[in-house]
Order: sequence, then C-alpha cells, then structure tokens
Amino acid sequence: MCFGNHIYTNKNILLVTQHRKEKAIGPLFENELGAKITVSQTIDTDQFGTFTKIKKRKKSQRITAKNKAKLGIKKYNYDIALASEGSFFKHPLTGLAWNVELVCLIDRKRKIEIYGIYESADTNADSGYIFDQAGLEKFIEKSGFPSHHIIMRPDHSKYKKNIHYVNREELLLPSFEYCLNQSRKKRVFIETDMRAHANPTRMKNIQKATEKLIEKIHCQCPQCHMIGYSLIEKVKGLQCGSCGQASELILKYIYKCQHCGYVEEKIYPEGRYAPMMYCYHCNP
Ligand SMILES: [Zn+2]
Ligand SMILES: [Zn+2]
Repeated sequence: MCFGNHIYTNKNILLVTQHRKEKAIGPLFENELGAKITVSQTIDTDQFGTFTKIKKRKKSQRITAKNKAKLGIKKYNYDIALASEGSFFKHPLTGLAWNVELVCLIDRKRKIEIYGIYESADTNADSGYIFDQAGLEKFIEKSGFPSHHIIMRPDHSKYKKNIHYVNREELLLPSFEYCLNQSRKKRVFIETDMRAHANPTRMKNIQKATEKLIEKIHCQCPQCHMIGYSLIEKVKGLQCGSCGQASELILKYIYKCQHCGYVEEKIYPEGRYAPMMYCYHCNP
C-alpha cells in the first residue's frame, strides 16, 4: 500500500499527549500516511499514572494507552486517536534496564485498535540514593544530563512533596542541597526523568514503536482489506530434526483480522525442523 491513496490521507487524527510525543509520532504519520495530527492540549494524561509514583498506573500498559486514546475520541469527538504508554523494568534474563514502548491507534468508525510495540535495552532508566555531591556527580554522569533530565526528592521514592524536576545545570546543586536539608534520613532519592519530553532516548524508542504501528496499518486483511491485519500468536512445537517430537521452537504464526475475523496460519515461519538443542527429549 503506498502513500497517496491510503485511508488516512488527509484524515484528522488526535494525538493524546502532554509530554511532546508529537515530536516522535507526528512526522511519521504525516510523512508516511499523509494524515493530519492534532495534539490534545487539555487531557491530563498523568491521571492514568506517572513514572514518579505520584499517581500509580492501575491498568496494563496496553489498556492504559487505549484508555487515553478513547478519552481523546470522546472528549474531542474524533474518529481516530493515538496515544502511547511506556514501561521500564529490569529484564528478567539479563537484569539490565529495559524499555517497552507501545503506541496505539483507535479507529472508532472501523472498530479497530492497532498497537505498535518496540522493546529496547537502550534506556538510561536508573534510580538510587545519594548522600553527597560526589554521589550526585556520579549519577549525573551516567544519566546523560542535561539533555536527559533528572528528578530529586528527599528521603525516598514515595516522598510526595518537594519533588525537583531538574533540567538545567545551574539547578542541580541547589536542588540537591534543598532535598538533603529537607530529608530526615540525610539522603536524596534521585532518578532519571522518563517523561518523553525530558528523555530523548525514550523519544527515539517511541518513534520506533510508531514505525511498527505504521507497518501494521499498511498491512491489510487478504479477505476484507481492512487495515491492521497482524500476527496475534506464535505457536510453539516445531518438530525436532532428530527424534521428531515437538520442541520449544515456533511451529506456526497465526494472523487474524479484527474486522471480519479471517484467520491465517503460516506454518514453519522460522524453519522446518528444530535443532536437537531445543528439543525436550534429546536435550532435556
Ligand atoms: Zn478481514
Ligand atoms: Zn528430539
């Protein structure tokens, strides 16, 4: 499907964001789909949860993004809306900081929702306690400050007053000293600011998730031609090349259309047989 005759060409799409995500999402939608992006100015997206624990996110990442977009549709009476949601955690296998970015498109008239997801170890996500200027400098060095902002507060991560969002060199020391003075335990909780506008690395990952979303928008159902036709499941159980039993490798991909329900299976998408090392029987 090429630019010029796409269903979103010249369509108005609302982007729900308070943190300048239009910088990552807007140009891709405008250049690749010819859509017109309008940014919602008045929806408080922090009500869905914040990284600073001021407001805890209650729903999953996917549901939260979807709810933001749906609120935009309702409030501004748009047919199509975009929203995004990120998460940061330690990767269960590597223990390294990990970022999952998700951008979702809701199309009310077509009754479809499409998600672009991008995962990366490329993040500065970090937090800890500091007690003196040397600790501050050490943290700052690996955080990427000042292009990447930081946050400081007295005592601990759940302290809800005196939160200092630091975006400039000259605010660094005064903020640290203020938080230290306010602290009962004589320590400061410091963290990287993960809000999109305060974190260019995260912004780049949001852009990658947007590219994934656009790939899915380009993908049409072979039966009804609705957009957003996509992989919904990877089924394990590829036959072992040695003993013939089912292994933990992928046997087939399942694609499904949200609109007409058409289902397609692509068998052996990653090869015909599994090497012995992936077999429960040959390599228990
Ligand atoms: Zn279909
Ligand atoms: Zn085997």
